Amino acid sequence: MRLSIVVPCYNEQEVLVETLARLLRLMDELLCAGRIEVDSEVIFVDDGSRDRTWALIQQGAQSSTRVRGLKLSRNRGHQQAVLAGLLMARGDAVVSVDADLQDDLAAISEMLSAHVAGAEIVYGVRRKRESDTFFKRFTAEAYYRLLSRLGVEIVFNHADYRLLGRRAIEALREYREVNLFLRGVIPQLGFNTAQVHYDRAERFAGESKYPLGKMLALAWQGITSFSTMPLRLITSVGLLISLASFGVSLWALWVRLFTEHSVPGWTSTVVPIYLLGGIQLLCIGIIGEYLAKTYVETKRRPLFHIEHDTALARDAGTMSTAVSVSTWQG
Ligand code: UDP
Ligand code: MG
Repeated sequence: MRLSIVVPCYNEQEVLVETLARLLRLMDELLCAGRIEVDSEVIFVDDGSRDRTWALIQQGAQSSTRVRGLKLSRNRGHQQAVLAGLLMARGDAVVSVDADLQDDLAAISEMLSAHVAGAEIVYGVRRKRESDTFFKRFTAEAYYRLLSRLGVEIVFNHADYRLLGRRAIEALREYREVNLFLRGVIPQLGFNTAQVHYDRAERFAGESKYPLGKMLALAWQGITSFSTMPLRLITSVGLLISLASFGVSLWALWVRLFTEHSVPGWTSTVVPIYLLGGIQLLCIGIIGEYLAKTYVETKRRPLFHIEHDTALARDAGTMSTAVSVSTWQG
């Protein structure tokens, strides 16, 4: 099996040398154990860094044939950098891992075993989040819960540390969305999946390239790229308010017609306010429904991926070489 390891790097000059050494050591071990082929590669994706990151990557590529550097033309953000690496990788199995090695590399070996055992996608899942601050842990976990409430399929406590098989990569290539949230897209692919649990360490040098602003942007991206629930909520709220307004209007009429307490002009003022408020919200909700549909259509997500095709398997002689991912784009 040919392995590719994808590492997104943004201003990572403090960690890069150590990261490179550790990854090459891991590759050597896997090679010696006969678990991967010689032409496996470590791909560093320079996400438009402004420090010596690219120079270091070039140095690495010169000193080892197993190192490959990709330089994005400008800073596009972590998700895009990972995607670039995944789509450019040549391996049969592709692992993405952060440059700061907060994610335990030992998990890669377990991911490979799970892949060999038949999992097309293997998620790295954090066992505990002790190295994170209370704030980060709390907000992250609350966020994962919110996402699943909103109907977004997501793996709890999994960031972008995972193994994708060739078929999963080819399926991923068909998602052409610009508002990229890989953690949401990958579970959409389907296939056999497995999880590998690991402990997350502290960043060993440099500082986080994910300040609060970027984190919030990613979180918002996750919600708005995968859920039309907020739009649908408008309809429900509109319906509720319409019903309530109708009730209150009847009451206002009743006060006007059957009691002596009504102030002149009151009924004719409040009844339209109630009714119109409800109707307006309901109409916005209906527009929201169509907007939600249009929004989903514009993403042009593939409708399905074929996992096995017996006809192809017969032609190729074996089932496992039938790498076919054909989809129909709606
Ligand atoms: N990163 C990137 N582009 C960016 C920001 C970050 O490629 O615009 C990379 C960064 O180099 C690292 C990974 O994304 O490899 C995760 O960033 P970081 O470790 O700073 O995030 P944290 O672990 O603090 O959430
Ligand atoms: Mg990190």
